[in-house]
Amino acid sequence: MRSIGRDPIFIASGRGATITDVDGNDYIDYVCSWGPLILGHAHPEVVRAVVDAASHGTTFGAPTEAEVELAAEVTRRVPTVEMLRMTSSGTEATMSAIRLARAATGRERILKFAGAYHGHVDGLLAQAGSGLATQGIPSSPGVLGSATAATVIIGWNDEAAARQVASDPNLAAILLEPVPANMGVVPPEPGFLRALREAADDNGTLLIFDEVITGFRVAPGGAQQHYGIDPDLTIMGKIIGGGLPAAAYGGRRELMERIAPAGDVYQAGTLSGNPLAVAAALATLRHLDADAYEQLAGTTDALATGLRAAARGAGVSVTVQSLPGLLTVFFSERPVLDYATAAASDTAAYGAWCRALLDRGVYPPASQFEAWFPSLAHSDDDVRRTVEAAAEAFAEVVPR
Ligand SMILES: *Cc1c(COP(=O)(O)O)cnc(C)c1O
Repeated sequence: MRSIGRDPIFIASGRGATITDVDGNDYIDYVCSWGPLILGHAHPEVVRAVVDAASHGTTFGAPTEAEVELAAEVTRRVPTVEMLRMTSSGTEATMSAIRLARAATGRERILKFAGAYHGHVDGLLAQAGSGLATQGIPSSPGVLGSATAATVIIGWNDEAAARQVASDPNLAAILLEPVPANMGVVPPEPGFLRALREAADDNGTLLIFDEVITGFRVAPGGAQQHYGIDPDLTIMGKIIGGGLPAAAYGGRRELMERIAPAGDVYQAGTLSGNPLAVAAALATLRHLDADAYEQLAGTTDALATGLRAAARGAGVSVTVQSLPGLLTVFFSERPVLDYATAAASDTAAYGAWCRALLDRGVYPPASQFEAWFPSLAHSDDDVRRTVEAAAEAFAEVVPR
């Protein structure tokens, strides 16, 4: 909220697509907890599942049947995930997937992309050093230089740089959000994911898709299904917890069997796969049938089309980039291809537009560099009211 020049709003409750603040103001919510709430707030089936699970005990530190059922739901949707391990957060899942990639390859370096976010893992809180393929430097106080030294950062959609870095014999993994959504939504250029897959194969490097946002959202099987590219490991979070703390990582059986106790790569978590989160996850995933994905795509399209028209009508130049269930309104005249073009957006205008939306009962992500998360709870009427509010808000930010 600071980045759009206002104080945070304290939320009292949520139902469906609507949140209510402590002063009693209602908003149509497009943050939806930054992605988990694909069914909207307080979905009756999810609430019932969580209450029922809680009444039978909240955590055991021992396996439960529901965990196995959830694993089956995941592997059915995401065939590259033959085995998975649950964690309590996406950060933890990323950290563990990297440890596994290093163990499996006997290599150290990780390639990541500028503007991507994979949780607050020390080694990934890195920014590019000077020049291509040099070691990353910490982007946060408290992170050791030695933690980021094995991280290499290049621009998203930069195929030539990716091929060059991917010839490094010490490169353990290429780590990416297959559709980056933490610099705003910036889809891969045609052929880019395939080029990364080939470069990884040529070099014996693992390809890790961080599908914490895209998983179970852009398609039942995530971005890997949408684009038809198979990663070696997949990181999942957000929707997989159904609004409770859960995440996971998984992949080919022979890789995952390296994880303790089956294998020698240590990883554990007291509350991993706890019954409440698993119950919320099962209730959420089971609701996501083919009709649900069609509806989500339709809602996103209507919103994107409406927002483009509203901006045009007000004479404001924006670029709306979207995939089913994800969208960003960039205050940029040109398409956004990477972090550099995202960062060139007019963030002051974005901030003014957001403040004007909040005044009209629409709650957008309070940053140019985040995604909107339309959900199955957003109705045609919610979209119509949002577009109306957006048109008025665009008119307010037109430079006079
Ligand atoms: C949110 C996010 C994470 C981190 O998940 P947490 O549960 O917040 O630790 C990792 N990767 C991506 C792509 C995310 O959007």
